[in-house]
Amino acid sequence: MKMTGSGVNGMIGMEGGRVEESIGELRRTFRSGETRSAAWRKAQLKALLQLLRDNENKIFEALKQDLGKHPVESYRDELGVVEKSVKYSLSHVDEWMAPKKSSLPLIFFPGKGQVLPEPLGLVLIFSSWNFPISLALDPVIGAISAGNSVVLKPSEQAPACSSFLANTIPLYLDSKAIKVIEGGAAISQQLLQQKWDKIFFTGSPSVARIVMSAAVKHLTPVTIELGGKCPTIFDNLSSPSDTEVAVKRVVGGKWGPCNGQACIGVDYVLVEEKFASHLIEMLKKTIKKFYGENPKELKDISKIVNKHHFQRLHNLLKEPLVAASIVHGGLIDEEKLFIEPTILLDPPLDAEIMTEEIFGPLLPIITLKNIEESIEFINSRPKPLALYAFTNDEAFKRRILSETSSGSVTFNDIIIQFVCDTLPFGGVGQSGFGRYHGKYSFDTFSHEKAVLRRSFFLELEPRFPPWNDFKLKFIRLVYSFDYLGLILLLLGLKR
Ligand code: NAD
Repeated sequence: MKMTGSGVNGMIGMEGGRVEESIGELRRTFRSGETRSAAWRKAQLKALLQLLRDNENKIFEALKQDLGKHPVESYRDELGVVEKSVKYSLSHVDEWMAPKKSSLPLIFFPGKGQVLPEPLGLVLIFSSWNFPISLALDPVIGAISAGNSVVLKPSEQAPACSSFLANTIPLYLDSKAIKVIEGGAAISQQLLQQKWDKIFFTGSPSVARIVMSAAVKHLTPVTIELGGKCPTIFDNLSSPSDTEVAVKRVVGGKWGPCNGQACIGVDYVLVEEKFASHLIEMLKKTIKKFYGENPKELKDISKIVNKHHFQRLHNLLKEPLVAASIVHGGLIDEEKLFIEPTILLDPPLDAEIMTEEIFGPLLPIITLKNIEESIEFINSRPKPLALYAFTNDEAFKRRILSETSSGSVTFNDIIIQFVCDTLPFGGVGQSGFGRYHGKYSFDTFSHEKAVLRRSFFLELEPRFPPWNDFKLKFIRLVYSFDYLGLILLLLGLKR
């Protein structure tokens, strides 16, 4: 079923007052307490897993239609990632939901402390078009695991995937608690006028500003997942086989995931001048090996999502000094929305290609006299979402970790952090804030409630007025010990 562009979807009509109506239903469901139970959360996660298994081919078709992704790429970056993530949450949700014990200061003896995670309520998730299945469903998994009601607003720029999600999710998941609302800016604005308990946004900085301004009105907490220019430091690797592996990973990480249209993809490479021509030759060879010899008929590579983004990328290349820096590729086909993997050597640093996020198949190689200068190069720009470094130099790795700031750092590989349920995924500074994946997703959609339990037994009178010196000394003493400290003191093992 195709959407009409006005945000109307066959499964749930979403015009005017119907947004409010749907949100009212979702709120009532949340208030009923149904979504809080472990049974409900697990049933939804299992249903999502079933949805993925039953609809594998439809998902592959939708991704092919929107982005020209090959099914293997679609499984690796989308379907497989989400399946893995659902299974991980299913096997950990009981443990995540359980209250965690915590000790209280001695002055409250006897007493117990607990941290009790509770769902936030009704959450709104905006997703982006480049990984239209995984970026939509991964946060939904977190929101469900944490026991929330959810509205998912997929990107209108991947219409086949958006339509698939809107039509299929209600067939599997509890539609009183989880709804998909399709549409573009107009419907998004309408959604943002509502009160939410959390907004999770993946997208561009300009729309993030709109989202945050709307969130301010109700003091709604937000998680903002943006992008930026992710640098790759390419050190002189002494071993030819290490260099070969590194080049494969750069080519696979740059052009593999959605043909460079990836927030954590390689934006540019930093390399020493003397090594640049060797690196470029190896990159060219590997591109041919991976995608074929004929630049007009490259295989297994995604297309540019639409005319707008094609034009944006074409404009980056048109700037005369940038065009003059192309050392490989540059072929474009507007009809097929295709841009060949393109390498540029030292384009001007003040050209748009080096000031804006590229988000496409263009790869500038920036040369430095000494690779250690890359730290200053990176620090003089906004904090990236991901930083990659190919190096065997342990001292240099330590410097990168301690002297730069980024959402993540990966040594000797590209983009693998996206698939790790055990690591937080998110940005810092201009690449966003908040994080998700695995337990981090659960935490993102939960509030950690502090619970303190006391009995009526044993009251320490000195904590109440009227005050005197003895009470001050007493409080000073008990504040300096926890239970264990007191036991050690009594046993004479602590002063
Ligand atoms: P976008 O900001 O155009 O769209 C994101 C979402 O916002 C979509 O759901 C869209 O419908 C909605 N939207 C669009 N206009 C709106 C408006 N006026 N008001 C309210 N909502 C509106 O971003 P995009 O083009 O989908 O994504 C590209 C950007 O996203 C890149 O910068 C990329 O780096 C970033 N990104 C980040 C991640 C991440 O995980 N950090 C992942 C993918 C993409």
